[in-house]
Amino acid sequence: MNREIGRLAAMIPHLCLWYETNRKPLPWRTDATPYHVWLSEIMLQQTRIEAVIPYYNRFLVELPTVKSLSEVDDDRLMKLWQGLGYYSRARNLKKAAVVIVERFNGEIPSDVDALRSLPGIGDYTAGAIASIAYGKPQPAVDGNVLRVVMRLCARYDDILLPATKKAVSHVLQAVYPSGHDAKLLTEGLMELGETVCVPNGAPRCEECPVREFCQAYANGVTDQLPIRSAKKERRTENRTVMLLSCNGKYALSKRPPKGLLASLWQFPNTDGHLTQGELKEYLSTVGITPVTIEKTESAKHIFSHVEWHMNGYRVVSDAQSDRFVWAEPAEIHDEYAIPTAFQYFKSLL
Ligand code: SF4
Repeated sequence: MNREIGRLAAMIPHLCLWYETNRKPLPWRTDATPYHVWLSEIMLQQTRIEAVIPYYNRFLVELPTVKSLSEVDDDRLMKLWQGLGYYSRARNLKKAAVVIVERFNGEIPSDVDALRSLPGIGDYTAGAIASIAYGKPQPAVDGNVLRVVMRLCARYDDILLPATKKAVSHVLQAVYPSGHDAKLLTEGLMELGETVCVPNGAPRCEECPVREFCQAYANGVTDQLPIRSAKKERRTENRTVMLLSCNGKYALSKRPPKGLLASLWQFPNTDGHLTQGELKEYLSTVGITPVTIEKTESAKHIFSHVEWHMNGYRVVSDAQSDRFVWAEPAEIHDEYAIPTAFQYFKSLL
């Protein structure tokens, strides 16, 4: 991509100026400490900006420093993260905070290799922290940046290939400024990708501050780029979820420490769509003799690689089985981190 270096270098001052004049006053941008940038970037993975803001503010009220994050109780951390999904991101935040306290004296490192050595921090987040918080000439290449660069340079490389990402990082690194402009460029590329050079539909080229540098615009091919190979289809899993109650309390269990939604609380559930007869058999294996069984509405939850299609039953039992933890609805709402996948069933309590 070497021939694109000149084009990108010429575009950068225009983008930085546009961003500085037009940026949205987001909390992590107005007070861009390394901790704030790190936390916001992790929260923003797969989640919209508007949805992240209340989580971000609440998280910092409770855990204002890396040290406080390193010491937080795991269940409390899951509760603070509840609703954001991808809970391993929160677990990695704490793991990395522990390393930062132990190995880096509580200071988030500015060196990208040191940043990349921390749990949950990959090339993108390392680049974002280094450039935004420390003014280092390091790009942070995510889907937004890939799309913008592919259009600016009219490149037809598949943006889902690691080699494409590597090439874009490489070419940006050759032109990246340092200091305040590094921050402006990283955030400016993100903002351009989110608001002007948008995915899913035509980019808003008429509003684009760098249109004069855009080869895709000049060639009239903005609607053809970027190229993205077809993703693998998600697998579907059928599950049966039980709202199992006894004397006003509901059964919960903790998910295994590894795998999907690890260590989070859930309503009892099992593979497959069970008939009432199969449900009774299942309940007998977990020590429950049902007094009443009533079917609920079904629900669906989409993870990145799998879709859960969930049928549900309300089951009243006259005795509690010690296979479960039993809690009142108010406790479930306030104290237990139940992933969004079970949101519909939680709303029935
Ligand atoms: Fe994207 Fe259009 Fe701007 Fe090119 S001119 S960078 S396609 S918004």
